[in-house]
Amino acid sequence: MKRKKLSRTLEVTVESSERITVHRIEPGGPAWCLVCGGSEHFESAYEAARTLGSNQREIFRGVETGDIGFVELPEGSILICLRCAATAAHRTKNTEET
Ligand SMILES: [Zn+2]
Repeated sequence: MKRKKLSRTLEVTVESSERITVHRIEPGGPAWCLVCGGSEHFESAYEAARTLGSNQREIFRGVETGDIGFVELPEGSILICLRCAATAAHRTKNTEET
């Protein structure tokens, strides 16, 4: 029995749509924080550390562990939620004292 080999090309087109909501946020300005669930003021890591008497390393550690809310700006820098940062700084101080 002789078999014929058939070759077919199938073209699949997938169309999708995505809605992206962009909120403009400025340093020192309020934005919604997903971590503490409030409309809070966001600052640069430097300003947040200076305001709270903390340091940027502590701030970034809180961001990495998910304890501090942040927004990423298009150029790659981040703004920090001051309320979350204050809570995290307070927690760190209490942990160090015990
Ligand atoms: Zn927050």
